[in-house]
Amino acid sequence: MRIVYSPKYDLPAHYLGRRVHPFDLRKYSRAYRQLGAWLGPRLGELTVAPPREIGREELLWVHTEAYLEMLRTPAFLAAAVEVPLVAKLPAWLTDRMVLRPMRWGTMGTVVAAREAISTGVAVNLSGGYHHAKPAGAEGFCFYADIAIAVADLRREGLLAESDRIAYIDLDAHQGNGVSHCFMVDSRLFLFDAYNVGIYPAYDRAARERIDCDVPLAGGCGDDTYLGLLRDRLPGFLDSVARGERIGLAIYNAGTDIFAGDALGGLAVSAEGVLARDLFVVGQLRERGIATAMLLSGGYSDASYRLVAESVKSLVEAFD
Ligand SMILES: [Zn+2]
Repeated sequence: MRIVYSPKYDLPAHYLGRRVHPFDLRKYSRAYRQLGAWLGPRLGELTVAPPREIGREELLWVHTEAYLEMLRTPAFLAAAVEVPLVAKLPAWLTDRMVLRPMRWGTMGTVVAAREAISTGVAVNLSGGYHHAKPAGAEGFCFYADIAIAVADLRREGLLAESDRIAYIDLDAHQGNGVSHCFMVDSRLFLFDAYNVGIYPAYDRAARERIDCDVPLAGGCGDDTYLGLLRDRLPGFLDSVARGERIGLAIYNAGTDIFAGDALGGLAVSAEGVLARDLFVVGQLRERGIATAMLLSGGYSDASYRLVAESVKSLVEAFD
């Protein structure tokens, strides 16, 4: 097992001097520090650092040139992060504050996907920007790290052309960006369980792309949530494995399903989040499928600890 992490993942909130978004801007380093307290020197042995941020050439595998140009406009970024103040800042500063940490996180997803194939399980302590589209930013997601990582594996020959990919999105929000990135790529199979009453509910095309659609009612708690997962996920994986090999699973493990989350609208307990992660990775390991796990959303102050609890338990169970 590998844990992919860089101190460059955190968004440098100190540029604004206050909390500007319902997002724990330091959840990545806080999760890593908590893991250090629990795992001690073992954490260093498990950690792989992305060597650099993702480059423009790699972004262009998925994104359009015009879109990357648009990201240089502070007003565009301000709308995407829903922080009007950002529109008043110079472009170099918005790049440093918002985009650069996500380019490091995107490289982390590329590294985690490669490490998953060589070691079995890898967790990127960032990434999972599942609302980013080839030509659009939404929901605090700018770079389509999942599609970029898949493109990288195919280019490197680490995934064969015929290999299938199982994408499991358990963030509270529907992964509409991933649906759009893979709209015409039938080698990626989508399992998506999400709160049907919240953003991006309007995106019908994205929902129609899902192979195993598990809509959840707002306020859904442990019993219903875990019951649906146990009912639906094994059959989904069996159906994807029919025909061709599953070369990789990408697990988008958003912690915004937690009851204390301001945006997710679900009511899963901390124990429920841990049980979910152990169940999903357990199902994938039982089938011998290489697994890359990404953090995705999670906006409460408890998120970093939920992440650390899951990763610690995964290390104990699968390393
Ligand atoms: Zn989310």
